Amino acid sequence: MINLKIMKKNYLLFVLFGFLISCSENKKQSIDFSIVIHGGAGTMEREKMSIEKEFEYKKILEEALNKGYLILENNGSSEQAVIEAIKVMENSPLFNAGKGAVLDERGEASLDASFMSGKNLNAGAIAGVKKIKNPIMAAYSVMKNTPQVLLISEGADQFAIEQGLDTVDNSYFITERRRTQLLKIKTLSQLKDKKESSSSISKFGTVGCVALDKKGNLSAGTSTGGRSNKKWGRVGDVPIIGAGNYANNKTCAISATGWGEFFIRNVVAHDISSLLEYKNLDIRKAAKISLDKVRKLGGSGGVIALDKFGNYAMEFNTKGMYRGVKDSKGNFKVSIFKND
Ligand code: ASP
Repeated sequence: MINLKIMKKNYLLFVLFGFLISCSENKKQSIDFSIVIHGGAGTMEREKMSIEKEFEYKKILEEALNKGYLILENNGSSEQAVIEAIKVMENSPLFNAGKGAVLDERGEASLDASFMSGKNLNAGAIAGVKKIKNPIMAAYSVMKNTPQVLLISEGADQFAIEQGLDTVDNSYFITERRRTQLLKIKTLSQLKDKKESSSSISKFGTVGCVALDKKGNLSAGTSTGGRSNKKWGRVGDVPIIGAGNYANNKTCAISATGWGEFFIRNVVAHDISSLLEYKNLDIRKAAKISLDKVRKLGGSGGVIALDKFGNYAMEFNTKGMYRGVKDSKGNFKVSIFKND
């Protein structure tokens, strides 16, 4: 009788032990994955945006997030998720990247993009390209298929052709909205209404994406037309690794948007990674500190950031930032304005 009781007790303990082990194994298996995007920070105001326009922006942001998320969910790499999400935004005329990019002082679209893989610190970028339909693809190809990091202007366009990437005439990128914007900025600067002219210029619209896959690999990509009425030959922060884009599996992945010169001078993306690496700060605090340095010098903009655990930040010191997140913890939201 006693033996039977002891046996029963041992059996229950055995079952309980097995259950606990399987729970801890399940926990180990459920690795978080996540995708965060931005479509530029700037002076957008709720009162000035129609419901239809807001809906249009949010629709594309959701489409980009869903595309990347699906890849991650199906065990795809963060590299692929970032590329596909950015392509959606580059192909939309709403954003300042690919089709719909802003125009330089000569009225041409001149595009910059960069890509970085956190698992091996490989990176690729292109600047001042005029023919590559999806600049992010060219940046990725520089990373994957060459020992270089940054290719510029005709050399980069030629490289894209050799890689078999889609090329287009420069007119493909140019929209009526950007022509009007350029004209307005030129007129305002002639009128010497510097304040208004700089506020018109400060509508950014660069696109970016950071992702963490099930293997724990982080990637970051950013793509832009730069700044409206920019000087011929001007290159911003986007293709400068460590300024507008950075990824390191040891810390985080970052993509920035804003007044590029200030992001270069503050080496913003690498600065945020360093704050995690050397000061062990959390991702939001690190992003805030770095953006504050930009603000103190007179610049503005925002960043999206994702750390190696899947914690994210979408910080900006402008009135709004097109942004969104979707992750395996159940977060899924797209927003535009400050208090969204
Ligand atoms: N950072 C970009 C640049 O200065 C502009 C933007 O974010 O819209 O080229």
